Amino acid sequence: VIEHGQPEHSVLTTCAYCGVGCSFKAEMKGTTVVRMTPHKDGGANEGHSCVKGRFAWGYATHKDRVMKPMIRERITDPWREVSWEAAVAHAAERLKAVQAKHGRGSIGGITSSRCTNEEIYVVQKMIRAAFGNNNVDTCARVCHSPTGYGLSQTFGTSAGTQDFKSVAEADVVLVIGANPTDGHPVFASRLKKRLRAGAELIVIDPRRIDLVRSPHVQARHHLQLQPGTNVAVLNAMAHVIVTEGLVNRAFVEERCDVAAFDRWAAFVAEARNAPDAVAERTGVPAGEIRAAARLYATGGNAAIYYGLGVTEHSQGSTTVMAMANLAMATGNIGRDGVGVNPLRGQNNVQGSCDMGSFPHEFSGYRHVSDDGVRALFEEVWGAALDGEPGLRIPNMFDAAIDGSFKGMFVQGEDIAQSDPNTRHVSAALESLEILIVQDLFLNETAAFAHVFFPGTSFLEKDGTFTNAERRINRVRPAMPSQVGWDEWRVACALATAMGYPMSYDHPARIMDEIARLTPTFRGVSFDKLDRLGSVQWPCTDADHTGTPIMHADRFVRGQGRFMITEYIPTDERTTRMYPLILTTGRILSQYNVGAQTRRTANVAWHPEDILEINPHDAEQRGLKDGDLVSLASRMGATTLRAQLSDRMPPGAVYTTFHHPVTGANVVTTENSDWATNCPEYKVTAVQITRSNQP
Ligand code: SF4
Repeated sequence: VIEHGQPEHSVLTTCAYCGVGCSFKAEMKGTTVVRMTPHKDGGANEGHSCVKGRFAWGYATHKDRVMKPMIRERITDPWREVSWEAAVAHAAERLKAVQAKHGRGSIGGITSSRCTNEEIYVVQKMIRAAFGNNNVDTCARVCHSPTGYGLSQTFGTSAGTQDFKSVAEADVVLVIGANPTDGHPVFASRLKKRLRAGAELIVIDPRRIDLVRSPHVQARHHLQLQPGTNVAVLNAMAHVIVTEGLVNRAFVEERCDVAAFDRWAAFVAEARNAPDAVAERTGVPAGEIRAAARLYATGGNAAIYYGLGVTEHSQGSTTVMAMANLAMATGNIGRDGVGVNPLRGQNNVQGSCDMGSFPHEFSGYRHVSDDGVRALFEEVWGAALDGEPGLRIPNMFDAAIDGSFKGMFVQGEDIAQSDPNTRHVSAALESLEILIVQDLFLNETAAFAHVFFPGTSFLEKDGTFTNAERRINRVRPAMPSQVGWDEWRVACALATAMGYPMSYDHPARIMDEIARLTPTFRGVSFDKLDRLGSVQWPCTDADHTGTPIMHADRFVRGQGRFMITEYIPTDERTTRMYPLILTTGRILSQYNVGAQTRRTANVAWHPEDILEINPHDAEQRGLKDGDLVSLASRMGATTLRAQLSDRMPPGAVYTTFHHPVTGANVVTTENSDWATNCPEYKVTAVQITRSNQP
């Protein structure tokens, strides 16, 4: 509900859409939002905003919000509204019954990158301390888990290396597998400003994204590769850098493991990694690869920014390491204007990873098998903790199908729509004896749930989000919880009802506990955030004001480690039956599965998902612009409207995934990253035919 009028007061808070983390003033009349105004002192946005953060907040008071907890025995039964206490008691009883019947490891849960650090922390704590296992994972599993693995292996920490501001010092920017104009608009504005001032741009992407050619920006090189060949292209760039003597030897010798460098240099120098050897497979002319490599290595400060077009591949982690190798080999790490920077999709992906949402790690990326770390958590939490890593999300689904996993708590995540291979996910969810969903709306996942806890929107939350540059921003409540309980209270109550007492009197106390247990957060407190506006971790003591640039003097792991990044083609192959490759992405006005933006005026700008197809491929199939087409893969089929576009090369098509009726993930493959199980959303072999639907 948007009420026009004069605001009476304002509340400083943080946008809950993308990983840029823009600061906004919620200008209020009583408890009604009049408008959202970008905050000129916001560390990430400096007064800028986009159409999502500025206008797409009406979902917070949308009539579809579920306002009362609900339970039901079977998923075919109607929902029954009950009190919070009754819903918590019912959920706890069912979870305990499942554990009694199927064992301690038969239940688990998923944290949400849409929620605050504090809300995430209490859910993973509930699972580890009250459920008694490490079956906790985060929706980051399906987006940036390869970032965590790849950057940890090479640099020693799972985070972007620079602050956004640093792009102003870049001379060369390499954007790979990301479309900042649509996905991270406020960062894109910073980037374009720098490009207009003279920095050079290299884009590596199958799609001709806006940055490649727009009125004020033109990429020097667009390496329009075939989906699934990132590693081959990056290795070929490395081949040029090594064989043409463009390595920054001084940096490598001073900062890196030289033996690992020598092994890597010998590997990339092999003839099979030469640009000529990969040109046909990747679709990128060898001369373009050579020119891009020379520019990256010799053009001054060179910064890499990347997105899900890097991570959501069977070689997602390898690609992250290949980029880190390039940065180390050329000395482009540890100062302004350089680095390797993931553009995180959701508002708090970084935070959900930091907070210990992975099944093998406590907060701050400490392994659960580390006896010393586990002993500290056991002492502070007062609970015996499991030293064995738990199940990842895809393993939970597989175990559910096998019958050994029977109960799940899903915090603010629509896994039935967002995870790949919808049929498999639906079958897994249907087989659960207890599924608890906490969300604003009855989403697709809730169709399989037995307990529904209403969630709170960002306008009701009190806590912190951590953006893509590790900036911890305050989220302040502009209105009281519309559903009665704050979201963090639910996990506390559920843990308590299961026999592990857990309570806090304020989210600030949760952050105090996070700080006590997490070295990189040790100096973080609500008081400091309120005083400084925001802080970038690591922030290691009370006097520390944060770390905009990582790895400045030494890598977190000590010496930077070059990793061998062998290119292994994906198992997803085109055939006569499925001759095209589908890749996916976002559009500016919409956000992920669209649960929020579809409930705002933004939906009018993009009312349905569209399939972009090259005119050449369209002509071969007799398709015209606007035709309804059937999009089918080995996994399933859906129907959407074709848009003829030369943004995609012949042989590859593209769609967004914002509308459940289209359900792009009905067709996406089961392949996943070898190291992290991040799904390979970006490469699916498909066929396209004219639809018979009217
Ligand atoms: Fe929100 Fe991202 Fe837009 Fe900023 S750029 S207003 S964080 S959606």
